[in-house]
Amino acid sequence: MKTVHIKSKPQKSISLLIVPHSKEISQINIATWIPKFFLGLILVVLLTSGYLTYDLYSSHNRLKESYDEKAHILKDLEELNEQQKREIENLRLKSAEVQEKLDSIAQLQETVRNLVGLEKTSEESTNNDASPSRGGPALRRSSVMDYEDIDLNTKMKELSSQLDQSSLELSTLIDDVEKRLKYLDAKPNLMPTSGRITSGFGNRKNPFGRGTEFHNGIDIANSSGTKIKAAGSGVVTFAGYSSGYGRYIIISHGYGYQSIYGHNRKLLVKVGDKVEKGQIISEMGSTGRSTGTHLHFEVRLNGKPVNPMNVINNMD
Ligand SMILES: [Zn+2]
Repeated sequence: MKTVHIKSKPQKSISLLIVPHSKEISQINIATWIPKFFLGLILVVLLTSGYLTYDLYSSHNRLKESYDEKAHILKDLEELNEQQKREIENLRLKSAEVQEKLDSIAQLQETVRNLVGLEKTSEESTNNDASPSRGGPALRRSSVMDYEDIDLNTKMKELSSQLDQSSLELSTLIDDVEKRLKYLDAKPNLMPTSGRITSGFGNRKNPFGRGTEFHNGIDIANSSGTKIKAAGSGVVTFAGYSSGYGRYIIISHGYGYQSIYGHNRKLLVKVGDKVEKGQIISEMGSTGRSTGTHLHFEVRLNGKPVNPMNVINNMD
């Protein structure tokens, strides 16, 4: 029975001999498929772990590449961010500078207005009060101080509109100054001749008799032939003779002003002539109702005689 069993399966098992030095030799029989199975299993494990290691390694590489790429992008973004921060800061400084310049333009406008004696129009003052970004220098100064809190975009828009406003104001100012200069040129405020003032404006003792009379102008005495100049630019509206004024001239200056030059020896202009302020128009004499060689200089405003000295001193 035992022999048959060994003969029927002689190649299906292998024997392991364990040979200790001190004890008996022992023998273990194991089936041949077992080492093959383990060999196969080890192979599978090796292949699997090899593949997994490769996969892990390549995943790691991909991740590293992706990380490097992202780190690069992040670095670029950080640089861009820094650059933009600098640009924004630059813009802030620049717009603060523009604001300061706008303030000085406003100040200059004010100076020019004061120089030519122009008041701010009521429309402009109303505008100033209505807009918080405009007005006095103190208000603008504070707007520069609050700068950090203001959105740059809003500030830029505000500056742009202020620039528009400023340029509008400047062209208005130029118009106003031109008008003002024209007016100042026309106003008969130039002393028309040299000499001694022998009679002022107002009540005076009648030089021809008793009592007093109202003197409509001033008398300036000098030698016969002394040059008489136009007190302001305008148009000659009369050049002729009357028993009172003698040979005399009337110049109309506009703005309600007229000037009259009496007792001349000789007239050098005629009706319709345009005269400049300071232009020689006649020579001093003693024609008409006169007690001696002098110029009777009279200024009328809206038809009424006013004190020529007040006009000359720009008090009227
Ligand atoms: Zn007089």
